[in-house]
Amino acid sequence: MSTAVHTRAAGGAAGPATGHERIFEIAPPEELLYSISADGSRKFMHPVVRKGRYWHIRRRIAYALMVLFFALPLIPVGDHPAVLLDLTTVRFHLFGATFHPTDNLLLAAFGFGVVVTVFFVGSTFGRVWCGFGCPQTVYLEFLFRPIEAFIEGGPTNQRRLNKEPWSARKLAIKAAKWGTFTLVALAMATTFVAYFTGWAALAPGLLHDPAKWTGALFTIAAVTGLIVFDFGWFRDQMCTIACPYGRLQNVLSDKDTLLVAYDTGRGEPRTRSREMLAGAGACIDCGACVAACPTGVDIRRGLQVECIGTAQCVDACDQVMVKLGRPTGLIRFTSENEQRGKARHLVRPRNLVYLGMMLAAWSTLGALVFTRADAVVEVVRGGREPYRLLNSGAVANQQRMRFTNQLGTTQRFDVTVLGPGDATLVVSESPIVVAGEKVVTVNAVTTVPQSRFHDGQATVRYLVTSDGGFRKEIEFLLLGPYDAQGRDR
Ligand code: SF4
Ligand code: SF4
Repeated sequence: MSTAVHTRAAGGAAGPATGHERIFEIAPPEELLYSISADGSRKFMHPVVRKGRYWHIRRRIAYALMVLFFALPLIPVGDHPAVLLDLTTVRFHLFGATFHPTDNLLLAAFGFGVVVTVFFVGSTFGRVWCGFGCPQTVYLEFLFRPIEAFIEGGPTNQRRLNKEPWSARKLAIKAAKWGTFTLVALAMATTFVAYFTGWAALAPGLLHDPAKWTGALFTIAAVTGLIVFDFGWFRDQMCTIACPYGRLQNVLSDKDTLLVAYDTGRGEPRTRSREMLAGAGACIDCGACVAACPTGVDIRRGLQVECIGTAQCVDACDQVMVKLGRPTGLIRFTSENEQRGKARHLVRPRNLVYLGMMLAAWSTLGALVFTRADAVVEVVRGGREPYRLLNSGAVANQQRMRFTNQLGTTQRFDVTVLGPGDATLVVSESPIVVAGEKVVTVNAVTTVPQSRFHDGQATVRYLVTSDGGFRKEIEFLLLGPYDAQGRDR
């Protein structure tokens, strides 16, 4: 069997191989990811940061998000940290409120809210989330890269160091960088685990009884490893290869979506002259925009899926334009329609629908949270037999009553029968004492005269009250004989 072997020069046509042979065709560079060389090897990005308008905004947002991440499990709200996702008791404590697995409506509203918010933000603001708020960009650009620059120097020094043969100096610098990365990642991973355990339990547990905290230790080690791998090595590939959001963005965008774009009309034809020549465009082909890009994109080639909206090219180009005394904004936030000289419509049917759905989802969630009951009481059938016909002629139904106290304090519950008037209820304990955020199940027997049953069923109504002000009426269908002779169907 013969193998057809072809190579293709950059941008050229495929043809029979000569010299070194390849078993696949190589796409011309313009069809490749910027971070991948023509031979398939990884190109590491060393963006040259220009501290412009957007960089300052992004840095403020990044620092605020980092502080929030580290602070939330430390700030107490009531008896718990501001955020505690307690998996052992399956309780989520958020800013003083406690949520249970039974809060499925809340969970559904929250999930729907997140999805439609992604749709709204994606269709209106493009990849602003990626460039300004995503943890991948926040921690890479404002924590790990600054550490790298502090230890190894700027992008030129980093490239030079990487090309140098191994020496004691290079080893020391690399060890310092990866050691610092690991320490930072360890702090992030431990904080991440504290979201699930709380610092109050985690810190003494790890310090005094680590043998009992092997699960937490393993998670911390695994998450630390993932963080070091991602922010130390994988980096921009998370956005350009792994993350599905960029692909989803293609579906969400339309001609009015905000995006970072190069003004071709103003920039072309490029000329390297610093003087504004007649007929020449404003771009001097200095490459500052490409050098600043964390994913290596040349934004002058148009909208590209690898562009994650960091606006680092905007800052870089604006600084070039200022130096040249030309108007800024050659690269700017705009839209496809705006670029074509049309008006950009921020408000349009598509994102109005998303906005409406988003507001509906979040306001439903808010209403559910604020009108949330202090307790959940469920009545289910108990015992092996559906009912028992007593000698007195009455019919007894066994039940189990489950009380979920949604408050942080103890509640005492009482259950009485509202109707029928001749029904009686015996509960295994009264009052039913349920500690804050706990669940208690009790046995109960409801007895009703046989005459109350029609077609084998009778409805009973209970009133559940608590000393915490909880009050709820519950209807329950009792089972009994099908006819007056006490026969079943
Ligand atoms: S930074 Fe501006 S002037 Fe320089 S190459 Fe990019 S678009 Fe052209
Ligand atoms: S092209 Fe510009 S906005 Fe897009 S990722 Fe690169 S630097 Fe950021």
